[in-house]
Amino acid sequence: MENPDVLIIGGGITGLAAAWWLARGDLSVEVWEAGERPGGKIKSTRQDGYLTERAASMVLNFRPEVAELVREAGLEPAKTARLPAAEARRYLLHNSSLKALPMRMAAMMVSPLWSLRGKLRLLAEPFIFSGGRADETVSEFITRRLGREVLEKAIEPFIAGTLAADPDMASAAAALPRLTALEQRYGSLAAGVAANRILRRRTACTTDTFSFRGGMGTLVENLARTPGITVRTGHSADELARCQDGWLVAATTPQGRKTLFARHVIVATPAPAAAALVAQADNELAELLRGIRYATVAVVHAGLSRGAVGHTLDGTGFLAPRRESAILTGNLWMSTMFPDRAPVGKVLLTSYLGGARAPQVADWNDERLADEAILALRPLLDINADPEMVRVDRHREALPMYHGAYQARMDGIAARLKQHTGLHLEANYRGGVSVRDRLARGHAVANQILEAQPWPSAERKQRTTPENSSGVIAQPRVA
Ligand SMILES: Cc1cc2nc3c(=O)[nH]c(=O)nc-3n(C[C@H](O)[C@H](O)[C@H](O)COP(=O)(O)OP(=O)(O)OC[C@H]3O[C@@H](n4cnc5c(N)ncnc54)[C@H](O)[C@@H]3O)c2cc1C
Repeated sequence: MENPDVLIIGGGITGLAAAWWLARGDLSVEVWEAGERPGGKIKSTRQDGYLTERAASMVLNFRPEVAELVREAGLEPAKTARLPAAEARRYLLHNSSLKALPMRMAAMMVSPLWSLRGKLRLLAEPFIFSGGRADETVSEFITRRLGREVLEKAIEPFIAGTLAADPDMASAAAALPRLTALEQRYGSLAAGVAANRILRRRTACTTDTFSFRGGMGTLVENLARTPGITVRTGHSADELARCQDGWLVAATTPQGRKTLFARHVIVATPAPAAAALVAQADNELAELLRGIRYATVAVVHAGLSRGAVGHTLDGTGFLAPRRESAILTGNLWMSTMFPDRAPVGKVLLTSYLGGARAPQVADWNDERLADEAILALRPLLDINADPEMVRVDRHREALPMYHGAYQARMDGIAARLKQHTGLHLEANYRGGVSVRDRLARGHAVANQILEAQPWPSAERKQRTTPENSSGVIAQPRVA
């Protein structure tokens, strides 16, 4: 067996994206994945005619490199666009009922969701001086710029629903990087949004929200099958040591212990596993990683007959502020967004429970989780029958919460990595949790490696990995 140019530890979307860009750059790549299949948190499951998503259910993209990956990976024909009808409405739980969330300033000004005082405070935003303290929390940043009401009614449920985090503790720079950048660059969010609108008109990539036929599993399965990438499942890396010109990595595998040398290693695991791996080489780096806290999230999918749900379900779903719901952070109307998610005449509703708001859900059994979700949905969506399909997925390490002085932690990690040529850390605790950000960061780390040293093209092309051990799910590209 030849050593690959690059070894990637962790076969989630981050590891697979980096592998895809590296293989495209003609380097040989091996991915060691501890689990039985590639994809990490992302997994699509068919059950009783419904298609459910364990984690990410769609990609919201505006980055050209992500559009390029989808196109070049041959995934364009498999893309399923979110229905335009579903873009029309996003709901918010307010005073125990669902209210359409205004998406434009003019609509917000006449919305009964906001008080007159809240509206006036919002209008004052361009006149607020810029500059909060370093590593401000989301709550501090939003209250300073937009007022308390926007925080409580819009941003808190958004942070809880998409990051499973608590805005009182989450770093604004890490959780809302685009908003904080607007303030830094333009002095106000309103000025920044206006400037960006003009600039975006000039860029080639428009915003696109999509999934794939067969769900998000299609994306990870396709990337894992790319020629030039060898994915070895059941390979749990547990040792990482510096050696001359590269790194030695050891893993427990179905065939026993395995050790491999690579000039570049990308550790694409959640932070606790990355900390365990790098501890021998750099305990300070391991400490920085150990300090990253994760939220537990439970996902409850409910399939119902359309007639059992009184609500029109004319949107993407709803978010629930903490003052309205102690457990449920949101509910997505999957079958409205992507009609192939439920059989004809049925609907699929997916609820998210837990996060920083309700860590106790980690200890609840599936029955209790399902009961809590359906109990919460019944009055809101006017549900008059029991679901015919229920499925519960749970993640103990769902999402990094970006709590504390997160930017300083990230700077510390970047500084430590400068001491370790050939070692790269990349997963959703760095640079955004979304699939879009993961695909884009995979591109960035691959470019860094491709530019790091001269990779003679002859050397690249000769590499093959003929060993066909069990757990190999994709044969390498043979040039
Ligand atoms: C409930 C939920 C809903 C979401 N919805 C969306 C959405 O709609 N849209 C969106 O854009 N994003 C969404 N996300 C976010 C997105 O799904 C994740 O951020 C992303 O999938 C994480 O990918 P990753 O590769 O960084 O990590 P992971 O998926 O965690 O992959 C890491 C991999 O490393 C492996 N590993 C760990 N230790 C080792 C080891 N020692 N050796 C070898 N392998 C190891 C693990 O087995 C795992 O496969 C959602 C997340 C959750 C939890």
